[in-house]
Amino acid sequence: MNDNAAHPLKLFNSLTRQLEDFVPVHAGEARVYTCGPTVYNYPHIGNMRAYVFADLLGRTLSWKGYKLTHVINITDVGHLTDDADTGEDKLEKMAAEKAQSIWDIAKHYTEAYWQDIKALNIRQPAHWSIATDYVPAMIDYAKGIADKHCYELDSGLYFDVSTVTNYGTLARAATDDGEGRIDAVEGKRNAADFAIWRKTPPGEKRQMEWDSPWGRGAPGWHLECSVMSEALLGLPFDIHTGGIDHREIHHPNEIAQNQAHSCSDHSGAKIWMHNNFLIDRTGKMSKSSGEFLRLQLLIDKGIPPLSYRLMCLQAHYRSELEFTWDNLLAALTRLKRIVMGVERLVEKAAAKTEAVTHPALLQLREKFDAALCEDLNSSKGLPLLEELLALKKVSAEQRLQLLSDMDSVLGLALTSVERSALRVRPLAARTDETEIEAKLDQRQQAKSEKDFATADAIRDDLIAQGVELMDGDPLRWEWRIDI
Ligand code: AMP
Ligand code: ZN
Repeated sequence: MNDNAAHPLKLFNSLTRQLEDFVPVHAGEARVYTCGPTVYNYPHIGNMRAYVFADLLGRTLSWKGYKLTHVINITDVGHLTDDADTGEDKLEKMAAEKAQSIWDIAKHYTEAYWQDIKALNIRQPAHWSIATDYVPAMIDYAKGIADKHCYELDSGLYFDVSTVTNYGTLARAATDDGEGRIDAVEGKRNAADFAIWRKTPPGEKRQMEWDSPWGRGAPGWHLECSVMSEALLGLPFDIHTGGIDHREIHHPNEIAQNQAHSCSDHSGAKIWMHNNFLIDRTGKMSKSSGEFLRLQLLIDKGIPPLSYRLMCLQAHYRSELEFTWDNLLAALTRLKRIVMGVERLVEKAAAKTEAVTHPALLQLREKFDAALCEDLNSSKGLPLLEELLALKKVSAEQRLQLLSDMDSVLGLALTSVERSALRVRPLAARTDETEIEAKLDQRQQAKSEKDFATADAIRDDLIAQGVELMDGDPLRWEWRIDI
């Protein structure tokens, strides 16, 4: 039996708005689909919260012993600037603005996104599914549901939401009023009907277009996720994730397509999970607003990206999380304390692994498991990891083993991260680390010889280079480069 089977895993299902026991569709397996980025721009750190959450979910499923198959898609076609099917394709628009090919735009921003994934220690999913690879499959899928569930207008093929049972349950929206804010394209039967194929208007040429039974054009955004999740995971699969905005339109539309294609009332995934937003003082972060925070900005300021991961884990994924630089720096301080504890533990442990048998550790593991099983309560799990580091008189080898196990869920790279990597060190700083360390040694020497004039002169010299010394720092982190 798996060591971490003590508690049943409970997850909040947005469909029922309740905590539910995770019961896999296929025994011993967990199949998860995560709505990925639209690669027309850099992801902001709010977007990355969605993937830290999906990663925590995947890691928890692995901790519970399930064989995980995780799919994250890359949207490189179909996502419009407007939910109302009247806007432009986000990628077409950006390509026109930059006078570049869509393929180059998509490649550039996909790579930038993958860099952030790596920097945040997010595990690679089994599949990165790229929307444009699936266009023929999307056309086949649309053909399969067109007769019974769709109708054609001049602008495209539309899904009639009244042809499926309980459209909009996920959003808690009635077909007529809740979704009424979606502008009606002329001729739509219901306000919430949506395009599954968008015809290229006569006389226009899009960079990305394909032939279809409904004319040359491009797929609607919602179609891709239904097609790729079914193709890669089979219907029904276990869990579908995304940001909370998807609960309102994108996911209800996916559900409608899944129902139509599977000829059943089943939503396609057993559990639908949504992370809440990262907000700043002005409200929800958004890419479209022009100004947004990228992970790279944090890195440029010398703040290790893992401190952002920790900041996310300190909040429950269903709560809003406010971004401030102070919150981020506080998370960094906490991370440093933890890493110092781990350094001491590694020094003490003679061997790297030893099975965990000590009752105090078994109890801690059981509590950690309970926290995660309570809808991924990482904020409750973190203090248990700190408790583990503070435990005295318990085998260091066993503590180290449990620490690595806990970190396999939290993903903070605690046993591999170097203390020096957690130093605040802006990229623009032109300071040589060995030189700083050498000067610190000289200063230490001067102080021990009570030559305070020399010690002060060295300090002033370092300050002039932007190096902030932290004498008497309780963390014993001797220096940082000022931001
Ligand atoms: P997009 O690239 O716009 O399709 O968004 C990628 C993911 O980020 C989606 O799951 C969104 O729901 C999610 N998301 C967007 N803004 C935020 C935010 N401020 N905080 C957390 N998640 C967000
Ligand atoms: Zn999606």
